[in-house]
Amino acid sequence: MQSFIVRTKKRQEIIEITERIKEFVAKSKVNSGTCFVYTPHTTAAILINENYDKGLNEDIIENLERLIPSNASYKHNKTDDNAHAHIKASIIGPSETILIKDGKFQLGRWQGIAFCEFDGPRERKVYVKIIKD
Ligand code: ZN
Repeated sequence: MQSFIVRTKKRQEIIEITERIKEFVAKSKVNSGTCFVYTPHTTAAILINENYDKGLNEDIIENLERLIPSNASYKHNKTDDNAHAHIKASIIGPSETILIKDGKFQLGRWQGIAFCEFDGPRERKVYVKIIKD
């Protein structure tokens, strides 16, 4: 298993990581297999969605914020002022699985892999595990 660091700059943001993960696949020389991408944090997530229009990432952040406002009242905020971030991370989830065929990701034309920060700015870890068929 390998890993890399994502340095987030905002409280909430979505950062494209497709190319960084493609490098691991290229170095692995795995032609056919499975790639797991996982982040071991409770207020961050991994997302696969459109990566062409960057405005969409802002739409996702803004609409999650509308559904789960940062400044609402939460029980968890009595111990740690970030309940909204845990809830958003729970909805998106900590991992994604991508299939590899002919040495390439089987992502759709508009799909990309992104790291979601909900309680930044922080230094975050992303694990990458590539399994050969
Ligand atoms: Zn917390």
